[in-house]
Amino acid sequence: MVRPLLLMIATLLSSIAGGMPLSCQRSAPEVQDGIYDYKNLLEKKPVIRVLLVKDAREARLAIDDCYQITDSLANSIDQGQGLQKSTISINEGSISVGSRHYNTSEIRITTLREGRIEFNNIRYRGEIRILQQPNNRFSVIEEVDLESFIAGVVGSEMPKAWNEEALRAQAIIARTYAMYKRRVKQDKVYHLDMLELAYRGMLNETVRINKIVQETKGIIMVYNWNIFPAYFHSTCGGHTENCNHVFGDDSIPPLRGVVCNYCNNSKYSLWSKDISKSDIEKKLREANIYVSNIHTINALDQGLGEHCSRIEIISADGTREMSANGFRLLIGPNYLYSTAFDSRSNGKSITFSGKGLGHGVGLCQYGAQNMAKNGFGYESILKHYYPKIELVRVY
Ligand SMILES: [Zn+2]
Repeated sequence: MVRPLLLMIATLLSSIAGGMPLSCQRSAPEVQDGIYDYKNLLEKKPVIRVLLVKDAREARLAIDDCYQITDSLANSIDQGQGLQKSTISINEGSISVGSRHYNTSEIRITTLREGRIEFNNIRYRGEIRILQQPNNRFSVIEEVDLESFIAGVVGSEMPKAWNEEALRAQAIIARTYAMYKRRVKQDKVYHLDMLELAYRGMLNETVRINKIVQETKGIIMVYNWNIFPAYFHSTCGGHTENCNHVFGDDSIPPLRGVVCNYCNNSKYSLWSKDISKSDIEKKLREANIYVSNIHTINALDQGLGEHCSRIEIISADGTREMSANGFRLLIGPNYLYSTAFDSRSNGKSITFSGKGLGHGVGLCQYGAQNMAKNGFGYESILKHYYPKIELVRVY
């Protein structure tokens, strides 16, 4: 069935745009290489707010060109020709940057021309906001245009030398995820934190990565003309998982899980790991979960990709169930690689035998790289891992 054009545009606009100004384009989109081209849909290029640090006591700042500092009411309170490396801290209610003190709850640093702000030894393209927090702490948020952000994410989330079709797919996924978060958190102080998408400012940009991102500029995935959280992970181990099973999200077709025959050369395809029971008890204790003398841990409720949604811990205190993904994150994603495991008690440790790395939902990065090596383009890769999506250029 062909959906009415106006309905498609209206759905797309409310799905991506939040409160930003929109153009009134009403003509039919061009479809080129499988992409619906709505490049005049948004009047302004989207900006995203990224949390760089939270509750910091000290950080380093340098600026390589002319800059301006404004307060929370957008009044200009300082300017300079450049700033040598200086320490940021909070002193008696003021934000201190080196020997300068600003008696305000927030400062915003903007460079003029193409100057860059270096924060904790990493250069950033956007504007930097420093916000006071209780107990002489502060958080730092970058406001950056979305394409610069994506250029910073792609080389941080995927090896920079990987096949360009895999990198293009990664760019579109990161853009889709970021635009989804930008819409659902539009009223919040920030849209994304550093744990959701790896981002290191300009550190992992290269000429090749920037060109690949530029070639996909403005392209996002939509399902039923709605944007969705485009999850991805390193290695699925043979079948990706339903998002409802892992996160409890709505089980939409792009995130229900698919067969993946492409990631068996990942070193995380199959693994076995001994983790000491006392380490597990300690990690749980740090999250205020108290269990002693763990006897065994069982995977419960395995999904299509064999990722379990819950686990049970049998200990001297009885039996306790918890979310499997929550357990994996508490133990540490570099220790317990995924939730697709069987486990057995092995004296003082638990032996986890599993497959895959990551939560298992959405695109499998190793699978995408092997699909690309086998000649698949980014559109085919994305439509394999996210069935029933369309690709749309929105700016
Ligand atoms: Zn896979």
